[in-house]
Amino acid sequence: MLRIPCPYCGERDYTEFTYGGDANQARPADPERVSDAEWETFLYRRGNPAGEHIEYWQHSFGCRQWLKVVRDTVTHDIITVTGPTAQREEKA
Ligand SMILES: [Zn+2]
Repeated sequence: MLRIPCPYCGERDYTEFTYGGDANQARPADPERVSDAEWETFLYRRGNPAGEHIEYWQHSFGCRQWLKVVRDTVTHDIITVTGPTAQREEKA
């Protein structure tokens, strides 16, 4: 079972969290100036790494903070969790 150590609430079951996506992707600074191919890459192209992966997770049923989690996709070990400095916009 995947357990995520929230920096504010302590270790909790992953069911309290909402996966927020790949944290390796950076939104283009000026979306009006990127090509369609670059925009498509940002929106849809994702890696499928076996090993360490940086992800956004929101503690939806806890403190509601967005966290940046480094997780091993093979073993599901949580390697690091960082707090509010890793905030992102909440999905509408
Ligand atoms: Zn929390």
